[in-house]
Amino acid sequence: MALDLVGTVGQPQIAERVILGQWLKNDTLRPIGLQVLKRHNFTCSNCGFASRPSKQIPHGWMIPAGLRHPGLVPSPDAKCLCPMCVAPLALNWSVISKKKKGQELQAPGMLIYCPWIIQRDLNVLASYSVAVKANCRVGRSSAIEAVVRSLDAAISALNEEVGSNTPIYRGKDSDFARSLALLPSEYYRDRSELIGALRWWPNLDYWEQQGLYWYQASTQALHKRFESILEGLL
Ligand SMILES: [Zn+2]
Repeated sequence: MALDLVGTVGQPQIAERVILGQWLKNDTLRPIGLQVLKRHNFTCSNCGFASRPSKQIPHGWMIPAGLRHPGLVPSPDAKCLCPMCVAPLALNWSVISKKKKGQELQAPGMLIYCPWIIQRDLNVLASYSVAVKANCRVGRSSAIEAVVRSLDAAISALNEEVGSNTPIYRGKDSDFARSLALLPSEYYRDRSELIGALRWWPNLDYWEQQGLYWYQASTQALHKRFESILEGLL
């Protein structure tokens, strides 16, 4: 599974549970997963984002992602990744909205057309934006809020560009992700041409729980990396 490309997984429902931390409730997976996270010091092997554990949130919202498992189930050789780095690998979960009592809920994120920024850098911007947005919601806004708000608006607008730049895209991220997941492996070369310029960006509100925690746990480190990536883009 290439960490620098968006992709799909064989078992999206299981991947969802792993990404949202439900592995922690499983007696077998809990010790395996926590050991992986501890070994990597709760730091993402892909983007470098560092969380920390606490009594209430022992995983710090990090993921022991078993990249060889179709549902990303943790194994002793799993990688420690942040949710922003795992979600793009599971588009057939991360751009699909669910229905609850007949109402459509927000999807975890969206596809964007953005060949000029690599997914890993976007992920750093994403975890920081998620943290700032969640903190604003509880009423402690900061000067950086406006920056994050316009960054989010600018990046989210790139969702509109996906259709005109991607063959077989018919107007809905979810349908595209499902078709991509069904594409047989002999078409993998075509597949990387299809998705090479596509990236994933979170719906910031979807990740509010993670954001609130990260804001407390690691804002300073996040802030530094956010600034350095923004500088690189300007
Ligand atoms: Zn990461």
